Amino acid sequence: MKLSKVVAASAAVLALTATATACGSDNEDAGGGKIKVGIKYDQPGLGLKQPDGSFAGFDVDVATYVAKELGYKPSQIDFVETKSADRENALARGDVKFIAATYSITDERKAKVDFAGPYLLAHQDLLIKADSKIAKGDDLNGKKLCSVTGSTSAQNVQKTIAPKANLKQYSGYSECIAALQSGAVDAVTTDNSILAGFAAQDKYKDQFKLAGLKLSNENYGIGIKKGDSALEKKINAALTKMVSDDAWQTAISDNLGPAYYTGEPAPKIGEIVT
Ligand code: GLU
Repeated sequence: MKLSKVVAASAAVLALTATATACGSDNEDAGGGKIKVGIKYDQPGLGLKQPDGSFAGFDVDVATYVAKELGYKPSQIDFVETKSADRENALARGDVKFIAATYSITDERKAKVDFAGPYLLAHQDLLIKADSKIAKGDDLNGKKLCSVTGSTSAQNVQKTIAPKANLKQYSGYSECIAALQSGAVDAVTTDNSILAGFAAQDKYKDQFKLAGLKLSNENYGIGIKKGDSALEKKINAALTKMVSDDAWQTAISDNLGPAYYTGEPAPKIGEIVT
């Protein structure tokens, strides 16, 4: 009698364990382990490491949603900083499983990495002092401009927007903002989504404004290692779900609403705006 109770109890434990394992293996990627995800650390509203060590922003919410669909709880995500110039290498080396870091899909990058998405359409713009005026990209020729190494923003300036601008390149946009504040440069150029996030910071209140120029189309993708088409499919399914169940809109409103960012509607997954 006693023995059969024990047997029954262990059978129940075994059954529970089996169920738990089945749930966990719902997604073979998870398995109780961690997932490394690349984000930016210094872009308010998009990817920001906060003073308490936590992370916030639209890219963080997108990454968290995608990770959940891949079978990972928020506590299983390790966010890693991937600066603009480091992203392709971080994926190639396997430092991170995927990157959600204002990462525009371009043909040049597609030679080295693959992308799921796009999940946001932004446009290159300028951040200038509240009392200054720049009406068009061409006005930047001869001006002191700041952008980031390895970004499409810096490349576009040099190739098309203002090849004669005096372009300073730093490793992150926060350094450019400091240069704008001190008067070392006349403007900072990158995506309007990023610039709006900085402009809305309390510490910069009423100091800066966006010029409002749509100098390019920036289709944000989730970067993954080249050739991982199974992961690309899963992430595209996650992004499609995020848009359709309103989590996408909520993430936009929560993170970029305070920056008065009047962004574009959610892009169609798989459709690049050129
Ligand atoms: N979206 C652009 C890019 O991927 C500029 C922002 C960034 O540097 O992350 O290059």
